[in-house]
Amino acid sequence: MFKINENYLKLPGSYLFSTIGKKVAAYSEAHPDKKLIRLGIGDVTQPLAPAIIKALHKAVDEMGAAETFHGYAPDLGYEFLRSAIAKNDYQDRGCDIAADEIFVSDGAKCDCGNIQEIFGQDNRIAVCDPVYPVYVDTNVMAGRAGDWIPEKEMFSGVIYMPCTMDNDFVPEFPKETPDMIYLCYPNNPTGSTLTKAQLQEWVDYANKVGAVILFDAAYEAYISEEDVPHSIYECEGARTCAIEFRSFSKNAGFTGVRLGFTVVPKDLKCGDVSLHSLWARRHGTKYNGAPYIIQRAGEAVYTPEGKAELKEQVAYYMKNAGVIYNGLKEAGYTVAGGVNAPYIWLKTPEGMDSWKFFDYLLETSNVVGTPGSGFGPSGEGYFRLTAFGTYENTVEAMERIKKL
Ligand code: PLP
Repeated sequence: MFKINENYLKLPGSYLFSTIGKKVAAYSEAHPDKKLIRLGIGDVTQPLAPAIIKALHKAVDEMGAAETFHGYAPDLGYEFLRSAIAKNDYQDRGCDIAADEIFVSDGAKCDCGNIQEIFGQDNRIAVCDPVYPVYVDTNVMAGRAGDWIPEKEMFSGVIYMPCTMDNDFVPEFPKETPDMIYLCYPNNPTGSTLTKAQLQEWVDYANKVGAVILFDAAYEAYISEEDVPHSIYECEGARTCAIEFRSFSKNAGFTGVRLGFTVVPKDLKCGDVSLHSLWARRHGTKYNGAPYIIQRAGEAVYTPEGKAELKEQVAYYMKNAGVIYNGLKEAGYTVAGGVNAPYIWLKTPEGMDSWKFFDYLLETSNVVGTPGSGFGPSGEGYFRLTAFGTYENTVEAMERIKKL
């Protein structure tokens, strides 16, 4: 008789966005005349930029001719893409990262989720809290997170590092020493960042205690402030303690076509074992990685046309972020984020928890957002709005909220 992985049963009930989906569907059915504005989900809405479409067409044509057809992609990804990444995202920023330390993939979600497989079962994980739920969920599935404590809405084996308005979203070093530290900056959902000096302290800490930092920089393109690092490799010593995840989803609209990459420096070792060599053995190298056509589209992101077009796209979303940030402030809310990230994080009014505020906003202004508690225990009492809607809808949503 086969057995299931019982760790899956520890995942609490329903996934955040499916609960939201059900609530919104029920509301729409009861009020078919109302126009809902969705500022909840972190998916992009702008079409792929012309430079990317051009590259896709060309690559599709190549696949139709015997001389230019491509089968399985190389394990790490095509050299043309890894070189463009190494130069533009790292070397031009003064980071010592080579093309053969980059592993191209079909997106950051899989990499953030799968990376834990190369680590031993008894590692203690620490996460900044609130955060993108994939890090905790995948460690739960792997049996590394302990048990779900319903009254606390936490896992017993996870070290949660609270990031709230009280500590300006900067996590403190935990009392108990972790082995694997998940940091996500710019942060989903709070939109907060660390300065280079603050991130350097984490790199120094990890090197001192022998921990690995799993750094998710999926929103790097939204950074507007000078002292905010775009990569953890801007910090000294990060090559010996950090892995970095990147995505083409939020900077270039690839959520539907899928492309991302992970950087594993060759200096990152556990004793004599190089993590680079372990990740090279990961499942889904040739078969589940990004196809040739998509990797050519990724290459176009780094051309002068691609860069100019995508700068405009990010600016479009950040204009929305400004509308939300200022609109909420005018409406009297306490607000964070929205400057280096497409996420705006607001404190829910006194006496309203984050799900109550979800219902309140849906019913009174027909605006859909995301309850903060869905991102971890320290997200309770907060609420996330995203800049990925259209400008017109974003303005209208804020007009409605200001009138409440
Ligand atoms: N990392 C963070 C912090 C995210 O918020 C998301 C998506 O919302 C991802 C990774 C997923 O990126 P991808 O689309 O490349 O899988």
